[in-house]
Amino acid sequence: MENEAVSKNFIEQIIDKDLAEGHCKTVHTRFPPEPNGYLHIGHAKSILLNYGLAQEYNGLFNMRFDDTNPTKERSEFVESIKEDIKWLGADWGDRLFFASNYFDQMYEAAVKLIKKGKAYVSDLSAEEMREYRGTLKEPGKEDPSAGRSVEENLELFEAMKDGKYADGEKVLRARIDMASPNMNMRDPVIYRVAHMTHQNTGDKWCIYPMYDFAHPIEDAIEGITHSICTLEFEDHRPLYDWVVRELEYENPPKQIEFAKLYLTNVVTGKRYIKKLVEEHIVDGWDDPRLVSIAALRRRGFTPESIKMFVELCGVSKANSSVDYAMLEYCIREDLKLKRSRVMAVLDPIRVIIDNYPEDQIEYFDVVNNMENEALGSRKVPFARELYIDREDFMEEPPRKYFRMFPGNEVRLMHAYFVKCNSFVKDENGKVTEIHCTYDPESRGGNSPDGRKVKGTIHWVAAPTAVKAEVRLYENIVDEELGVYNEDGSLNLNPNSLNVLKECYVEPSLADAKGYDSFQFVRQGYFCVDAKDSKEDALVFNRIVSLKSSYKLPAQQ
Ligand code: ATP
Ligand code: MG
Repeated sequence: MENEAVSKNFIEQIIDKDLAEGHCKTVHTRFPPEPNGYLHIGHAKSILLNYGLAQEYNGLFNMRFDDTNPTKERSEFVESIKEDIKWLGADWGDRLFFASNYFDQMYEAAVKLIKKGKAYVSDLSAEEMREYRGTLKEPGKEDPSAGRSVEENLELFEAMKDGKYADGEKVLRARIDMASPNMNMRDPVIYRVAHMTHQNTGDKWCIYPMYDFAHPIEDAIEGITHSICTLEFEDHRPLYDWVVRELEYENPPKQIEFAKLYLTNVVTGKRYIKKLVEEHIVDGWDDPRLVSIAALRRRGFTPESIKMFVELCGVSKANSSVDYAMLEYCIREDLKLKRSRVMAVLDPIRVIIDNYPEDQIEYFDVVNNMENEALGSRKVPFARELYIDREDFMEEPPRKYFRMFPGNEVRLMHAYFVKCNSFVKDENGKVTEIHCTYDPESRGGNSPDGRKVKGTIHWVAAPTAVKAEVRLYENIVDEELGVYNEDGSLNLNPNSLNVLKECYVEPSLADAKGYDSFQFVRQGYFCVDAKDSKEDALVFNRIVSLKSSYKLPAQQ
C-alpha cells in the first residue's frame, strides 16, 4: 500500500534486538492450530503475521497441528485448515508437523523432570487439587504426594503410561512453587490419564500432555525462535520459560503475545458457529454469512483483501475491535481494478422498444473496466426486449428522480437513449411491461444533438440473457437489537439471507465458474457460489455493495 508506515511493530522490534544481541541467528515461526474447527479471520491474522515475519527475515515458517488433545480432533478440520492456509498464501514448504508425533519426546521430557526432582505423581482428585491450589489472595498448600522419591515417581509415571490407572486417578505435576502469585506456577498438571483413542496415535497412549507443557516442547523440538501467541497466554509465559529452562534446550524459543483480532458485532467463537452449523441455521462452516476463512473465500473475498485488512489492523498488545466495514473496504479496493464491470438485473421488469426491429440483435463493444484497459473489452448484445431493474422505473417519480418514468428520456448504458411512453400493470397493480422508443442516432449512448439526459441505467437484453440466482447477505446477528439474547444465545437477524431467484445477467457470464467475481454495475461485487452454482443454474453471492460511508481510521 502507498503511504505504508515504515515503523516496525513491537514484534519486529523484539526480533531485531534478539538478532542484534545474538539470542538467535535466524527467525523461525510457526502457526499451531488445534484441529477442532475451521479457521476464522482472527486466525488469518496470526497466520499472515507468522508467515510474514519468516519471509521478512528470510527465515522459516512451520505448520503444526497442535493435536495433543484427543477429544475434539477431526480429520475434516485438518484438511480444511491446510486448504485455508494454502489459499492465504502461507507456504510451509515441507515443514508440516503434528504435535502428536512428539509424544515420545514429551514422555522422555517428563521423565527428565522427574529425575531432576522437578515433577511428581499426585493422587489428588481434581476437586482436591482445586482446594489445595489456593486463591489469588492465599497461597496454595503442598500436595501430600509432593515428597515422593524420584524412584517412586518414575515407577508411578510408568504405571500411568501402562494403563494401570483410571482417568483422573493420577496426574503428573511440575514441582514449582505452591505459593507463587501466578496461579499457573502452582505445581501445574503436566500429564493426565485419559483412556481415549487419538486420531493420529490410536491407542498407543493413555496419558496425554497438557498444553502448557507440550507447547514449549513442540517449539523447542522444531527450533522455533519466536513463538507468537495471543494475549491470554501472557500469564502462562513464566511456565513456558520454566519448561524450556528445566529441560535445558540449547536454543530456547521465546514466547511473544499480541492482541487477538476482534470484529465488532461479528460472531467468531467456535462454540456459536458449531451450534449454527449443527442446527442447520447456516449452510455449513463455509456459509457466506460467516467469517471463517472458508466462508470468506466462498463469499468472494480474496487472499489479497484479507492481507490488506490484517495489515491495516496492525499488531498490538491492546485488545480492540475492528469494524466489519473495514474488511468491506479492503475487498472493494482489491477488486476495483481487477474485475470486469458487467450488467445484471436483480429485480427485472420487461422493457419493449417499440420502434426497434423485431428479431434484430446488435452488439456493442464495451470496455470491461474503464479504469484498467488491460482487462480488454467484450461484446454486449442489445435487442428489442430488455430487462431493467424495478427500482429504475417509477410511475410517479418524486422530484430529483432522473431514471425511467413516463415521458422521460434516459440512457441505456453503453447503448441508446430511450424514452418511456407507456406501461402495463397486472391485476394487482404491479408494473409488468414498459414501452419505450429509442433514438437510433444515439448509438453508443452518445447524444446526437447535444440534448442531455440525466439518468443512465443498466439493462440486459432478454433473448440472450442468462438467468441466475443471486443471494444478498446481511449480518447473521441483529446488530441493532444486540448480538446476544439474555440467555447468551445469538440474536439472529431474520433477514441475513435474501435469495433472488429470477435475476438476469449478460451472456458474457454464462461460463462463469466457482469463485469468479465481477462488479455488477451500480450494485456491487458478486462472486459465483462454488458450492451451489451449476453450469446451467448460476448462483451469485453478493460480496459487498458498491457504496460505503466507511472512512479508514487514521494510521496507528
Ligand atoms: P477460538 O477460541 O476462536 O476457537 P483458538 O485460539 O482456540 O480459537 P487455536 O487453534 O488454538 O484456536 O488457534 C491457533 C492460533 O491462532 C493460536 O496461536 C491463537 O493464538 C491464534 N488466534 C486464535 N484466535 C485469534 C484471533 N482472534 N486473532 C489472532 N490470533 C488468533
Ligand atoms: Mg485454542
